[in-house]
Amino acid sequence: RVLLTQVFDQHRGTLKGIAMTVQDITREVELNEAKSQFISNVSHELRTPLFNIKSFIETLSEFGEDLTETERKEFLETANHETDRLTRLVNDVLDLSRLESSKTYHLNGVDLSQLIEQTLRTYQLNAKDKELVLNKEVEPNLPLILGHYDLLLQVMTNLVGNALKFTPSGGIIVIRAYHFKTKSKQFNDKSCVRVEISDTGIGIAPEDQAAIFDRFFRVENRVHTLEGTGLGLSIVKNIIDKHHSQIHLISEVGIGTTFWFDLALYQDNCSPSEGCNNET
Ligand code: ADP
Repeated sequence: RVLLTQVFDQHRGTLKGIAMTVQDITREVELNEAKSQFISNVSHELRTPLFNIKSFIETLSEFGEDLTETERKEFLETANHETDRLTRLVNDVLDLSRLESSKTYHLNGVDLSQLIEQTLRTYQLNAKDKELVLNKEVEPNLPLILGHYDLLLQVMTNLVGNALKFTPSGGIIVIRAYHFKTKSKQFNDKSCVRVEISDTGIGIAPEDQAAIFDRFFRVENRVHTLEGTGLGLSIVKNIIDKHHSQIHLISEVGIGTTFWFDLALYQDNCSPSEGCNNET
């Protein structure tokens, strides 16, 4: 972007010249393009369930009397299912936009054992229904980490939810948490806590592994009757970013997937970006 400004002689009140400022706005243009792309994707994703719901209602109101009781029930159930999908999508879009618009969150001492326990309680029934084993291996007396409880709960919910979705019956899902001394610069050579979510599911091919964190990306040729919005992992990545950390994965098709991330320990005057005053 080139900006031209007139420069006046203050005493005489006459034009002295023209000043030219050149600004690099590549990043701004890229961000605007990403935003437009996102809005267009959201609109597209919202239109599909809306169109389906409208078609079902139209058919029921026009031809309802010609349908059998079972057919009518099926139509209503599908419309209900589509409404759930729409709700999930709107919630995910709102979560993501809230995360992107607030630069920082206040991080506090979080008890991960409690958070993992809550995640297990949420999913235990679901796992049983799918004949999956859902376990935890949490180090006793795990130190508090520096984090945001509700946001981290959402991370766990999304990752464990995916593990349940993409693991066939008979599989095992394990949530692990342990602390160790890291050599990572990110934590200034101090200890951190690692959280891992492993499954024995269908796995993710190497060529898809980077893209799965993109908004709306869902691996092709999959049983996409499976519920999902393609936004879950973008939300996870965003939340882990807010904890000044990164999300990683190791996966093999047909064997399973492990997602993992590290979190700084909570101490007074301690933050992952500024470091800790006390040795851990
Ligand atoms: P979705 O709502 O589709 O689950 P996500 O952003 O959470 O969206 O995940 C994006 C895609 O990554 C999924 O559609 C799926 O193809 C793949 N994926 C995520 N987690 C797993 C997993 N544990 N095992 C296999 N594939 C996964």
